[in-house]
Amino acid sequence: MMTLHDLAQNSPRPVGVECIHCIHRALFTAKELRAKRGDMRTLSEAGVYCGNCGSRQFSVERFMSWSKAHAFMRNI
Ligand SMILES: [Zn+2]
Repeated sequence: MMTLHDLAQNSPRPVGVECIHCIHRALFTAKELRAKRGDMRTLSEAGVYCGNCGSRQFSVERFMSWSKAHAFMRNI
């Protein structure tokens, strides 16, 4: 499970989430979620939900670069 701590560690690169129900994808940065190191809440516990269907169940992907993140959003 991705935590806010993991997201802060990965900053400034974003993480990608894909909704398990409707396959909607989005990117989040540590800044957007005010993620801090040591915060062990998961993304759903921190209030992340699908902007399309409202589900709190999603898979999370880490990216090594912004170009990989943009490719994820284009579904490549
Ligand atoms: Zn959804």
